[in-house]
Amino acid sequence: MRYLSADYILPVTGSPVRNGILVMDDEGRITDLLDPVFSMNIPDQPERYNGFLCPGFINSHCHLELSWARGGIAPGLGLNHFVRSLQAIRSTVSEDEVSYSIRKSCDSMWKKGIVAIGDISNGLSTLACKEISPILFHTFCELFGSDPIHAEAILQRGLSNAAAFSALKRNGRASVTPHATYSLSEELFRLIRINQTSQDLPLSIHHQENEDENSFFLNGTGRIAERRLAFNPGIVPFSGTGKRPLESIAGWLDQNAKLLLVHNTLSQEEDINFALDYFREIHWCLCPKANLFIEGLIPDIDLFRKKDCKITIGTDSLASNDTLSILEEMKAITRFYPEIPLCEMVSWATRNGAEFLGFENLGTFSPGSSPGVVLIENVDIDNLALRQDSWSRLLIPPANASIS
Ligand SMILES: [Zn+2]
Repeated sequence: MRYLSADYILPVTGSPVRNGILVMDDEGRITDLLDPVFSMNIPDQPERYNGFLCPGFINSHCHLELSWARGGIAPGLGLNHFVRSLQAIRSTVSEDEVSYSIRKSCDSMWKKGIVAIGDISNGLSTLACKEISPILFHTFCELFGSDPIHAEAILQRGLSNAAAFSALKRNGRASVTPHATYSLSEELFRLIRINQTSQDLPLSIHHQENEDENSFFLNGTGRIAERRLAFNPGIVPFSGTGKRPLESIAGWLDQNAKLLLVHNTLSQEEDINFALDYFREIHWCLCPKANLFIEGLIPDIDLFRKKDCKITIGTDSLASNDTLSILEEMKAITRFYPEIPLCEMVSWATRNGAEFLGFENLGTFSPGSSPGVVLIENVDIDNLALRQDSWSRLLIPPANASIS
């Protein structure tokens, strides 16, 4: 047995425990959490750490395959510039550089406490890394294409990629998913729905990252509409639906699907109300550092809290972030919303992401689970809060992390 103590233990399932003692078996399974105020059986000499202990982090939105693009795109110039720049620099990178950057990102995320990832993939460049990584993955093979003529071919390519990930001995969880509300033809949305083999397979969709998405659906104008025509010469122009983005495409998605909406930077109350009413299970992923990098904006997080939304946290990619760290995302949220309690943010960064991705053993310190243990150091103990120079590291890996 191991006994770990710190200034606070954040179990996620309950209140933080001051000077608590986390009890684990030798495999890393949680057996108990002792409160020294109430417990009679306090061990004499637990392993003592300065800071907070919490379950391993879940990065619910990442593009590992874009790790090579770190520092390649200028920040603050908007999504249209970002998409076009990424397109332009793609040809400058070699396969070796791509593989090396993927391995380096995985290693860094693991050391900082990320134990599971919802990873967006357009190809197979992350396949080899996922087979040997201690991190757990669900791979979302994302599909896009506005011209219905190509829908069937795009679907087949995505299914083939998903099958390659599914064949992995480790990290074989994979499914196809739509890239965004605005970047698929109706035909491609319908084909994805027909080919979802199970309602339990999650869907992850980029949503309301900037105002262009709203104007595209409301009246068919703006930079998304222009890009659609530029990338698809000869396509029939889109005149809009007169509705908000999610409402415009909801009929082409399975109402019972597990859905993750990613970014939600411009989402308003009417968007949230529609999503909560229409879908069975919906999670809202915040990637604040990427939003700040690309658009210089951050979502109305208080609104999501007021509507009792299930929030998760993602890092997005190194194309739109300088680091892949869940702690850094929480610190960014704290800069804009200092009143949000750390324990609430940690539940977004752990339990909610694990729940969405279906990793039942991760995300909390409940007895029987094996979520891994993260140590957050250099913290504000008196206020149970992060400092802007706090850091995190994985102290104990989850029980299932060993690679056979
Ligand atoms: Zn993304």
